[in-house]
Amino acid sequence: MQCDPYDWIEPAINTIRRASWYRSVQVIEGKPGAVVQLEGKEVINFASNDYLGLAGDDRLIQASIAATTEFGTGSTGSRLLSGHRELHRELENAIASLKQTEDALVFSSGYLANLGAISAIVDKRDLILADTYNHSCLKNGAILSGATVIDYPHKNTEVLQNLLSQQRAKFRRCLIVTDSVFSMDGDLCLLPQLADLAREFNCMLLVDEAHATGVFGATGAGGAEHFGISNSKLIQVGTLSKALGSLGGFVAGSKLLIDFLRNRAASWIYTTALSPADSAAAISAIAIIRSEPERRQQLWDNVAYFKQQLPLSIIDSQSQIICCQYPSATVALQAASGLKKAGIFAPAIRPPTVPTSRIRFSLMATHQKNHIDRAIAALTETLR
Ligand SMILES: *Cc1c(COP(=O)(O)O)cnc(C)c1O
Repeated sequence: MQCDPYDWIEPAINTIRRASWYRSVQVIEGKPGAVVQLEGKEVINFASNDYLGLAGDDRLIQASIAATTEFGTGSTGSRLLSGHRELHRELENAIASLKQTEDALVFSSGYLANLGAISAIVDKRDLILADTYNHSCLKNGAILSGATVIDYPHKNTEVLQNLLSQQRAKFRRCLIVTDSVFSMDGDLCLLPQLADLAREFNCMLLVDEAHATGVFGATGAGGAEHFGISNSKLIQVGTLSKALGSLGGFVAGSKLLIDFLRNRAASWIYTTALSPADSAAAISAIAIIRSEPERRQQLWDNVAYFKQQLPLSIIDSQSQIICCQYPSATVALQAASGLKKAGIFAPAIRPPTVPTSRIRFSLMATHQKNHIDRAIAALTETLR
């Protein structure tokens, strides 16, 4: 009898389709920005992580062209072999200076930064306590580490404290991991309480600043600055691909931690160094983040203006990510498609990514008032 070992794939896709969980890509043409071409149609963009509008900024573009001209397109090797450039060190110094940490290390993506950091600092003798709403890369980093992983209910520091009381003594090291801005709801972690618990129970604390870097804090350093946490041992992970408009990730923290990661983080050691173009764009972005705080102010003004007028209930948000709730995946998809027809690009986010269906709006500093007015009008129309 002839068997096809791949014959499970088509029924698996059909199951995904039946649940309205099927995903596919859509083509964006031209430069990124508050207004983009989506499959030939001009739309106002509420789907981008480019919160400060830097990915299309001429200064970043020129910096990456200059770096490519001088250093070529690829970095041709891993950092420890032939891929290390002065640009990488310059970028790491800029990140450490923005974050007010002793040192920093850049990875090829934020995802790889979290995988590398978590799996390097804990192993099967250790405990990870994680918020249930943490990003996929924190969850997979925890699995990769081999540590015992216990999730605590979203932002529930009481349960976390109980878990620490019961479990901490049974393990060697303990790591608490959390997003600072939760990427699918847009709310903030309770960083001061987490820092207190980490101190009380002798735990390391890793905070994923992917959506906060460049956006939160007076200088754009992120959630740690926003909450006034100045513990030099705090492990801050982030990305260069959201507010910084480039590509790549980083870990910022103590000199010793960074030195250890250079020796033990497999996703840093065994992968090619960041390209010259991406590195130079990120360096340029950090300079802009520090010298143009008015971009952050404009973003927060836009967030306030949008929230004020929303015609339907939102999931608790304290950030530039604002989600409108819908009763089912099907209704959320219908609403997203209605918005798209009206020239508003905002994605429906569904299970299994999140527990409840919603449309997710990401505000940008470069949205104009009339962009927001049009989004509100289109949303109101979809409710009819
Ligand atoms: C986007 C994101 C990442 C991954 O960053 P990339 O640089 O895109 O790989 C990590 N953590 C969180 C919370 C994110 O939202």
